[in-house]
Amino acid sequence: MQPFTYTSATDVDGATHLASVTPQARFLAGGTTLVDLMKLDVEQPTQLIDITALPLADIQLLDDGTLRVGALVRNSDLAHDELVTARYPLLAQALLAGASGQLRNMATTGGNLLQRTRCPYFRDTAMPCNKRDPGSGCSALGGANRGHAILGTSEHCIATHPSDMAVALVALDARVRVRGREGERVIPLVELHCLPADHPEIETTLEPADLIVAVEIPPLPFAKRSLYLKVRDRASFAFALTSAAVAVDLDGPIIRDARVALGGVATRPWRSREAEAALRGHSAGPDTYRAAADAALAGAVPRGDNDFKIELAKRTLARALTRVVEGSR
Ligand code: SF4
Repeated sequence: MQPFTYTSATDVDGATHLASVTPQARFLAGGTTLVDLMKLDVEQPTQLIDITALPLADIQLLDDGTLRVGALVRNSDLAHDELVTARYPLLAQALLAGASGQLRNMATTGGNLLQRTRCPYFRDTAMPCNKRDPGSGCSALGGANRGHAILGTSEHCIATHPSDMAVALVALDARVRVRGREGERVIPLVELHCLPADHPEIETTLEPADLIVAVEIPPLPFAKRSLYLKVRDRASFAFALTSAAVAVDLDGPIIRDARVALGGVATRPWRSREAEAALRGHSAGPDTYRAAADAALAGAVPRGDNDFKIELAKRTLARALTRVVEGSR
């Protein structure tokens, strides 16, 4: 681990100012990704800005029905919040499917969104990796890529975004409230994470001194009928091979509206408007679910070891839809 300076921030503006004048500064919250990567020398910040004392740990219901979740709300607290379990079951399920109990007690809402990929080559400084060392190459393209992405990839990076929580949040049209050098602004969550394209080292649309202060989830009454289904190699403490976040609005046997997002298969939390269009206005049932799954995976590009993910992702989505609809009848 490289030497660094540690500062405990006492207010948001002070934290963002310090970040703006210190190249290679990093905000430290739960530390569940950052500290690991510092030990591996993948992250080498010169300055850590501890933000855990900032007043960003509240969950508030706003007058318009939006749920505002402070960036420092712990994953375990969010998963068990009564407003979340009642209004957004898929979010509570996604949170509880992530990591382990110990990690959920440490990890924060903002940090979860910004966690780095689990690509093993990214974490091994002896291996070429365009994301860690731009221009060095991508070891996963011709290497072991069973866990890698099949959607949103490029010839420079096929790393999977690891978050479960973010998959549920993109299905819910969540927004990210950010404080930076120019003041406060709101970014739709679907626009927070970048596709790798030619620059996999650029992972988000945040500026260097930007601090996520909250996540806002708009009201969605039919999200009460929602589900997060995660398929993984073992029953807990494992990243998704595939996952699906779904919410369905039924009018008798007809699907009036739907939300679909996929995890474990894409380079960012993957909202599938193609699947939603294939569901909307059609009868709930296996043929419709399969059509939606085919639409969601139409653009998939497998790389060998991860070929199986196409069919697994389709079955995951179809099963999630089956369960959420059957559970409501
Ligand atoms: Fe690096 Fe991305 Fe390739 Fe993994 S998939 S080795 S993170 S460039």
